[in-house]
Amino acid sequence: MTPPMFESVLIANRGEIALRVIRGCRELGVRSIAVYSDADAGAPHVRAADAAVNIGPAPSSQSYLLGDRIIEAALSEGAQAIHPGYGFLSEREWFARAVRDAGLVFIGPPAEAIAAMGSKTAARTLAVAHGVPVVPGTTESIADAEHAGEIASKFGYPVLLKAAAGGGGKGMRVVREPSEIAGSFDAARREAKNAFGDDAVYLEKYIEGPRHVEIQIIGDMHGNMVHLGERECSVQRRHQKMIEEAPSVAVSPELRAEMGATAVRAARAAGYVNAGTCEFLLARDGSYYFLEMNTRLQVEHPVTELVTGIDLVHWQLRVASGEPLGFAQEDISPKGWAMECRITSEDPANDFLPSTGRVSYLHLPSGPGVRWDGGIEIGSDVSLHYDPMLAKLIVHAPNRELAVERMHRALSELVIGGVETSREFHLRVMEDSEFRAGAIEIQWLERRLASLTTDAGTEDGAMLAALAAALLAESESGVRGAAPSQRESAVSAWQRAARQESIG
Ligand code: ADP
Repeated sequence: MTPPMFESVLIANRGEIALRVIRGCRELGVRSIAVYSDADAGAPHVRAADAAVNIGPAPSSQSYLLGDRIIEAALSEGAQAIHPGYGFLSEREWFARAVRDAGLVFIGPPAEAIAAMGSKTAARTLAVAHGVPVVPGTTESIADAEHAGEIASKFGYPVLLKAAAGGGGKGMRVVREPSEIAGSFDAARREAKNAFGDDAVYLEKYIEGPRHVEIQIIGDMHGNMVHLGERECSVQRRHQKMIEEAPSVAVSPELRAEMGATAVRAARAAGYVNAGTCEFLLARDGSYYFLEMNTRLQVEHPVTELVTGIDLVHWQLRVASGEPLGFAQEDISPKGWAMECRITSEDPANDFLPSTGRVSYLHLPSGPGVRWDGGIEIGSDVSLHYDPMLAKLIVHAPNRELAVERMHRALSELVIGGVETSREFHLRVMEDSEFRAGAIEIQWLERRLASLTTDAGTEDGAMLAALAAALLAESESGVRGAAPSQRESAVSAWQRAARQESIG
């Protein structure tokens, strides 16, 4: 007999992921409870939920990171479970434990699994013990610079120093020469201490030109666990993902099955339940190495949903309520191609400087195969309090070539006024010949960045600028939603600009 689904769930997050989870709740008939900071009182996720609780001032240290206050809100609103989204409290072992101790269900893995995968060195040790390949290096943290030098010579340069408690690419340093190791070791330690309050640093062989390929897994409480194939996340800037796709051009069905089985083995070793992701580096010679496990729903989960047809949020809620997985490994095979661009409030022309302001105009792409997972609307304030990711634009098409064309088309339709965004940058990537050929690896973007962010303009850049200007003029003059005769002036401004463009 299927156990009953939760009646109500609190979502301990904001922005697009809060909306994503609220939508999943609504589809399953679950009452959703939002939490919000003072800065988010008017945010879309607050209105989308069935109830909402203010949890404090704008800084996340005084609101979204206050686990106890969030648990209190869940109890007072009668929630039975908490979905943490990603970021914030999603990978804090103590929070998962506190939720459980309060008699609530944490929609994610058990606290013990978060702990097992929480430190990179602990995760490496666990992986090695279960025959999961890891990048050659240490599993223990390194005591001093001298020892670091000895180990680096043993593995051979270049090497990578990493913070054991690391995340978000912080505390990582590539060392190419023996003369640099002592200085880099001390710097990495300081950086780790500042960022994570833990100065443990270890060392890995630096792999040249690998792809970042990760495997989505999901398991239930009855011992069933499957993998949902890979995502290619090699388009990164400063170790941060910008574009993700599924499947990967570099992964054959055989490799998918092998990496998938490896990911399931790693997850099982940690006693994993619910959705999670094993990240790997896929080297040029086809060998792959486990990097770490993300013990939560990831930003890029929609590309997997689109190619597998499996709603990850639904299944997170279902397995957390005790339901067995409704599919087996042989039911899963990717169909078509999905791609995601992270639309951030950063200015690519200005070294991706964060941009703040009020969203003054918003025109969303639509049409075949387009999905918008956004957290903004007209009037939204974009501040420096939170992550600059405003939304994700996701497309699905029969193959990669068509997915790239579709993404380009969808990006061309997107207009965001009031803040600088990464839209134009993504358009250029979709036009880039190397990207179109799938010739990407984790250092590709850094190498290519200059040519992707100069002011040369995209194929349709001038047209789009004209369209954006016309639409902005329209919104500023308040004719949005006005009578057709008034709207015409804005549209014809665009047409005029387009005509001029084709002449000039
Ligand atoms: P974080 O948790 O800080 O994101 P990861 O270990 O996941 O750190 O690594 C982040 C990124 O750094 C990877 O996606 C990859 O681009 C790069 N990277 C990590 N380890 C190596 C390595 N040994 N060699 C080359 N690149 C690496």
